[in-house]
Amino acid sequence: MSALADRLAAVQGSIADAARDAGRHPSEITTIVVTKFQPAALVAELAALGVRDIGENRHQEAQAKAAELAALELRWHFIGQLQTKKARQVRAYASAIHSIDRPGLVDALRSDEASVDCFVQVNLTDDPARGGVAPEGVEALVERVLATPGLRLRGLMAVAPLDEPPRPAFARMRLLSERVQQTAPDATALSMGMSHDFHDAILEGATHLRIGTAITGNRPVAG
Ligand SMILES: *Cc1c(COP(=O)(O)O)cnc(C)c1O
Repeated sequence: MSALADRLAAVQGSIADAARDAGRHPSEITTIVVTKFQPAALVAELAALGVRDIGENRHQEAQAKAAELAALELRWHFIGQLQTKKARQVRAYASAIHSIDRPGLVDALRSDEASVDCFVQVNLTDDPARGGVAPEGVEALVERVLATPGLRLRGLMAVAPLDEPPRPAFARMRLLSERVQQTAPDATALSMGMSHDFHDAILEGATHLRIGTAITGNRPVAG
């Protein structure tokens, strides 16, 4: 097996172990392999190994890879901060957008075409630069997504804070998700868990993991 296949199999094994620890079935969990900064050839290798869900955080890079690999029929997940003026272009190739963080972006994504899956991104820190809406703002943003044609609210997304252990932060997301489901019963998904914290995320109910380097190896240096 290639190193890539080895790492993918190891991560899949750890995900299955964590699901068992949590009393959950691994089939409830979608693993999105994050390939930002990686060449399209690596995405094609992943596809050959059975990966269907790919995560990217920069529009131009994602758009180019999605076009080059269109024949593979992958599901592209947009996970980075999204400029309002790029919103419609991202809709064109993305199956899901995980970074809905402000009303203007919701409005820019309005469409009469087929719905795109959406996650409202929550900022679990006090630092606005980290992306996402503050927990107090989640409810209003959820209502706006629900009222906007062309968007299908799947649930919430978050990145664990750097300055506290991930598990309590993921537990806060679980509670927030339960609250959101009182207004949006279909918004059951939780996009959380990366290379170094996916075990804790699974224990707190993650349904969509976004895993990069643990599977791809180190990212090439930007530029
Ligand atoms: C890069 C990135 C990931 C994956 O990070 P790894 O540590 O490489 O697993 C997940 N989510 C977001 C939003 C990212 O930007």
